[in-house]
Amino acid sequence: MSTEIPMPNASPILADTYRLRLPGPIAVPERVRLATGRPMLNHRGPEFRAIWGRTIAKLQPVMGTKQPLHIFACSGTGVMEAALLNIITPGDRLLIVCNGQWGERFATIAKAMGAIVDPIDVPWGETVDPAVLEDRLKTHAYRALVLVHNESSTGVIGDLATTGNLTRNTDTLLVTDSVSGIAGMEFQMDAWGVDVVVTGSQKALMCPPGMGIIAASEKAWAVIRRESGMPRFYLDLRKARDSFDKGESTFTPPVSLVQGLDASLDMIHEEGLANVLARHARLSRGFKAGAVAMGLANFATAKQQSNTVACFHLPASIDGTRLIRRLYEKHRTVIAGARNRLQGKMIRLGTMGAITEADILTDLMHLEDVLAEMGHKLSPGAAVTAAAKAFA
Ligand SMILES: *Cc1c(COP(=O)(O)O)cnc(C)c1O
Repeated sequence: MSTEIPMPNASPILADTYRLRLPGPIAVPERVRLATGRPMLNHRGPEFRAIWGRTIAKLQPVMGTKQPLHIFACSGTGVMEAALLNIITPGDRLLIVCNGQWGERFATIAKAMGAIVDPIDVPWGETVDPAVLEDRLKTHAYRALVLVHNESSTGVIGDLATTGNLTRNTDTLLVTDSVSGIAGMEFQMDAWGVDVVVTGSQKALMCPPGMGIIAASEKAWAVIRRESGMPRFYLDLRKARDSFDKGESTFTPPVSLVQGLDASLDMIHEEGLANVLARHARLSRGFKAGAVAMGLANFATAKQQSNTVACFHLPASIDGTRLIRRLYEKHRTVIAGARNRLQGKMIRLGTMGAITEADILTDLMHLEDVLAEMGHKLSPGAAVTAAAKAFA
């Protein structure tokens, strides 16, 4: 017979014992969750038109852009696909930095669309040297250079400000994925010279999964508007732009999720974007210091590291799959492992969203407890002490 799996407590009053600490989806704040439960609206009526307009206006500064934003009812991968679909013609050549799972996914999508992919393979945990990019950009008239902003499989940040200077005055478009970065890490689309950026609802934007968001620069729009010969329909940004100019969405938007995003952006702006980003930096610093104090090694070796995702190697004696299972069984704390060749060898935890120092300290206590149970030698309490020092 079926096994009973207790569901997370859905009460807005009682504390929830289910601790969703993945690098996405992340725990949705009650204010956002309740907003997604408001009555359904006519998606072409005045009430929703107002919500749509103000939600986009509140999201633009979080993405560092004055460009139109387009919201699709899809996961992050859907807008990754849209990003490439709208700029390439079959046979176009793309330079794609592969230093983790998400760069590799872009390469897979590009190949599926008939583009020629020149990967730049970088060891995971590292980032690409801008001098290498500069040299490679001279070898071909690339349609696009793809560099992931926040590589959630390794915890590394791509240096878009420097990279934007390399592509700004060329015909090459700079395409990036900040699905797990935006709202947790600084993102300056316009100032950095990013031409196409995609993000998603279920990471630092604190919403349920289901919205993919995309923006393009003027330079990118000139390419998007061409008749490229690529079959585009739902994800055709030209349609999305016409609708944006009329203050609406081409097809039925995810009305409830947009209402959630309206609320989550209120939370972000009430706290202040700069304060939100500083809090993410502080919490990430605390978690990483705590994990190091337990004897774990940071997976990211690059200088610029994520504040939203922490990735750590596990000692060879620890089975990562078992560790993650025990954290859930014993403490209802849900973290991620690797979904690739590193499975069982590393852990990944989200340090993003509406969380506090107390959440990070609890994560560390649970991790310490399970590692000790599995025979890892550590000094109990050291992690929490190191984190508290790093917060200060
Ligand atoms: C989560 C994530 C995505 C999107 O994944 P979906 O499962 O398609 O929503 C894309 N890129 C990065 C870097 C991510 O962290």
